[in-house]
Amino acid sequence: MKSSARAVIIGGGVVGASVLYHLAKLGWRDVLLVEKSELTSGSTWHAAGGMHTFNGEANISRLQKYTIDLYREIEALSGHSCGLHPNGGLMLAANQGELDSLRLICSRARYLGMETEMISLAQALELNPLIDTRHFIGALWRADGGHCDPSGTTQAYAKAARLLGAEVERFTRVLALRQRADASWDVVTDKGTVHAEHVVNCAGLWAREVGHLVGIELPVLAMEHHYLITEDIPELAGRSRELVNTTDYAGEIYLRQERAGVLIGTYEPHGIVWAPVKTPDDFSMQLLPEDFERLAPYFEVGFEHFPALGRVGIRKAVNGPFTFAPDGNPLVGPVRGLRNYWVACAVMAGFSQGGGIGLVLSRWMADGDPGQDILSMDVARFGAFATPKYVSLKVPENYARRFRLAYPNEELPAARPVRRSPIYERLLAAGAVMGANFGLENALWFAPPGMAPAETPSYRRSEAFPVVRAECHAVRGNVGLYETSNYGKYEVCGRGARAWLDRVFASRIPRPGRIALAPMLNENGRIVGDLSIACLTEERFLVVGSGFAEEFHLRWFWAASPPADVQVRSVASTLCGVSLAGPRARELLQPLVRMDLSADAFRLFRVTETAVGYTPAILTRAGFTGELGYEIWTTPDYFATLYDDLVSAGAPLGLAHFGARALSSLRLEKGYGSFNKDFRPDYTPGETGLDRFVDFAKGEFTGRAAALAERAAGAKRRFVILEVLAADAEVVGYESIMKDGAAVGYVTSGAFGHVIGKSLAAGYVPSALARDGARFEIDVLGETRTAVVHSQPLYDPQGLRLRA
Ligand SMILES: Cc1cc2nc3c(=O)[nH]c(=O)nc-3n(C[C@H](O)[C@H](O)[C@H](O)COP(=O)(O)OP(=O)(O)OC[C@H]3O[C@@H](n4cnc5c(N)ncnc54)[C@H](O)[C@@H]3O)c2cc1C
Repeated sequence: MKSSARAVIIGGGVVGASVLYHLAKLGWRDVLLVEKSELTSGSTWHAAGGMHTFNGEANISRLQKYTIDLYREIEALSGHSCGLHPNGGLMLAANQGELDSLRLICSRARYLGMETEMISLAQALELNPLIDTRHFIGALWRADGGHCDPSGTTQAYAKAARLLGAEVERFTRVLALRQRADASWDVVTDKGTVHAEHVVNCAGLWAREVGHLVGIELPVLAMEHHYLITEDIPELAGRSRELVNTTDYAGEIYLRQERAGVLIGTYEPHGIVWAPVKTPDDFSMQLLPEDFERLAPYFEVGFEHFPALGRVGIRKAVNGPFTFAPDGNPLVGPVRGLRNYWVACAVMAGFSQGGGIGLVLSRWMADGDPGQDILSMDVARFGAFATPKYVSLKVPENYARRFRLAYPNEELPAARPVRRSPIYERLLAAGAVMGANFGLENALWFAPPGMAPAETPSYRRSEAFPVVRAECHAVRGNVGLYETSNYGKYEVCGRGARAWLDRVFASRIPRPGRIALAPMLNENGRIVGDLSIACLTEERFLVVGSGFAEEFHLRWFWAASPPADVQVRSVASTLCGVSLAGPRARELLQPLVRMDLSADAFRLFRVTETAVGYTPAILTRAGFTGELGYEIWTTPDYFATLYDDLVSAGAPLGLAHFGARALSSLRLEKGYGSFNKDFRPDYTPGETGLDRFVDFAKGEFTGRAAALAERAAGAKRRFVILEVLAADAEVVGYESIMKDGAAVGYVTSGAFGHVIGKSLAAGYVPSALARDGARFEIDVLGETRTAVVHSQPLYDPQGLRLRA
């Protein structure tokens, strides 16, 4: 075995093999994959090999399409067959919610360039004659996907990589990882030590244990999974083409043709965690005992929906383990605090996703950037909240829902409530219906007295719709209170703080007592953060951003190497916050503070430290609703007292609570984009409109050259707010924006603007088309709706209320 390599990849399943291939393809020839047993011997060899392009996240869908298209390339390069059956896919809906979800997939697929259409049940029957159509009401057909041979595909990657100069060492187990002072690694194996610049954890079923080698606890867990292969099915004899791979949501069943029979698998509701504490070292090319008794009721549903399957015997049963993250998406990328250590694990759909993961990870390792937004599979979407106990409850929940539809208004109950703010119980008493963001409970809306604090999952307007409308009117007409504890918060202190912030952020850094809106860019000039910076003193700053992105931003700050005279720390759990918004916010707050809050004395984007009632607090004049507003931050020990003071002072004024749903509506009325939804690392300052906060005149900052180049060339597309006419349901996200029959852009978020009385969509369209009044079409749950661009905010375009 060689004694040094540029990168060592640990694990020879389909994911490790793909990472090896992609590194070699982009020119890293000196790369080595070490596998403790035979290639594929973890979860890869017994997979059903199904592949598809659909994922709730557009960028993951794109990477899945890339993966499937790649197989022809590696077959040609390696001369090794991937055993492709590009049959396409069929998805069956049994109720209105499922039908809506299929229509949403169709609307999204157009911009993604995927051939997808709603078809009749009669057409579905032609593609799969085994369906008992009485159980279904609609179907979607997609051209992409089918299945492949898991072992052949992995070997094809490995062989193609070897032909490019990469090496594979089988039967070589990694025992320890030791980092040298220069951040390179000694990879200690049972066959000797390899010195490597980078290591990649692709250890699949053992990813958790390989994480332990460097002292990290990855949020990953394996579940048992069963599929059956039937004996030959007479109905398939003599057919000229294979069955189209079929997903039955109601039955939670997938099936495909396997020779003259059918492979049928189920994601049962009470799945079994495998190896909850430690994956056995000696598990290799093994299956688990079958448990037909437990699974019989679920397969019975399959036999009912596809009766021919029940009329033949079972030829083979497979029960094998594979891994999941709590939300079912992979864990990819670098880990904060560990230089040159990368993960690509928790991949539950290796044959749909392995290629795309190899592509983005190899770019990330070579260029320092994945080349596109992959927030939804970035390992940094989880933080300390994803403890082993949390993971042990969330992974089975996700497994059980693998084929259930995730409704946009649905909140999943497992491992909740865990992270609670000090006013959690008070908000519940006020009727709060909670969601969880980065593990922290936050109010979505407030059920009024007499109404149950619960909501029917739906793609359409729910019983919460009129309640959210009332909350929006309360904010615009009077005053509302919203808890902001779930924002990401960081304290940056020290003599070098200003200079460091100046380099990391693209905005100007505010002077003491002021706040600046602060975009953060990567070297390619893409948006990696849309935060605010409040300067408390010359050497102390409070930085606030998206709560979801806390670990992502902490990793970014760490990678930006704060010098010795700068301290950066998360204050997520040591600062709680509340926002007051509405024309009477000043009237409410003034009696609680000694300072003068009048418009001239405490203007928009000012910050101060003061007492609010009993509470020592940081008080800012800012907010996200477009109304006169304040944000108040304090420590957890004072937070309930602060809340009580505000509620008492607000009672005579009719203070209302409002939640995240109302905030989405209010912000879109003002045309404000939100990080993670509208602003992500795919977009630039010019495209998002955040260029107005970029300080091009200051010295060097990360992404400056790229941002300047964009400014010179002009942005290719623009973030716009569209009014969706005659809509009876709101857009969800990623629906295609159509012009003259062509998909020209897509939606990033949507809400009903309750005060202006319009259904709103935010999204991107080509700059040339982004004119006031420009008309487009958006397919909203199967209905084509006209969508009209509004280049000015629909509410208070001059911002008079904000500055009041
Ligand atoms: C029954 C079943 C059906 C499935 N069906 C499908 C399907 O239809 N479509 C689909 O896309 N996916 C399917 N999957 C999931 C698929 O198998 C996984 O997504 C995929 O195998 C993940 O590959 P991996 O490379 O991440 O992990 P693994 O295949 O587990 O590979 C990890 C490798 O790392 C090696 N390793 C671990 N520790 C060390 C160490 N210390 N030193 C050296 N080597 C080490 C292991 O030996 C192993 O070979 C199915 C899984 C099961 C169980």
